[in-house]
Amino acid sequence: MDFYEERLKMNLESTLTDSVLIERERNQLLIAIEERIVGFLYQIPDYSYMGSLETYLKYQPQLLEQFPSAVPLEKGNYSISSNYGIRVHPISDKEKKHYGIDLATARGKYVYSSASGTILNILYSKKGYGTHIIIKHRFGFETLYGHLNKVLVRKGQTVKQHEMIGAVGCTGSSTGYHLHYEILKNGSKIDPILSFNLKKNIYSHLIESNTIKDGVE
Ligand SMILES: [Zn+2]
Repeated sequence: MDFYEERLKMNLESTLTDSVLIERERNQLLIAIEERIVGFLYQIPDYSYMGSLETYLKYQPQLLEQFPSAVPLEKGNYSISSNYGIRVHPISDKEKKHYGIDLATARGKYVYSSASGTILNILYSKKGYGTHIIIKHRFGFETLYGHLNKVLVRKGQTVKQHEMIGAVGCTGSSTGYHLHYEILKNGSKIDPILSFNLKKNIYSHLIESNTIKDGVE
């Protein structure tokens, strides 16, 4: 942590809540925080470095909508059936790296965009991901939603975080109804699991401090 960063962090709580602080200083500090977050987001290789940003994200919560930070299904309506990492493939029975996370849920459950972005591609594969959607987000992120049975968006369309994009199916190489969800950072597939807690952690903190009242998934 450099000197500037340390000072910024130390001053955050007191300065931003100080009622006598003039508007201009407050805005300058918020801009400095946003620049810091954006710079960091372009560089991070995965979500394991995200913890140090939680302090700053509290003050720029709108940025959370710009990169994958939400679960793409309705809260409480899914279970994780396969994690990211090495596993024995259920169809080929061979050991293989699983590049996404499988969220088991009922057929036809709606799938939501995990961040704001643009629909990069919609593909109807017979094997593999089956019917799947790829969304491009800011800061080098992309997300992929596989095995869908319904697509509710078109290529090139912009979507907001939590916008309905499709429905859960069993298309492609799939043994049951589930959503295969992937996050790519600068073209490399990363573990989505830490992104699930990020938004929840930050928003629950905001609710505690009464800064915002809704937006929780
Ligand atoms: Zn999968």
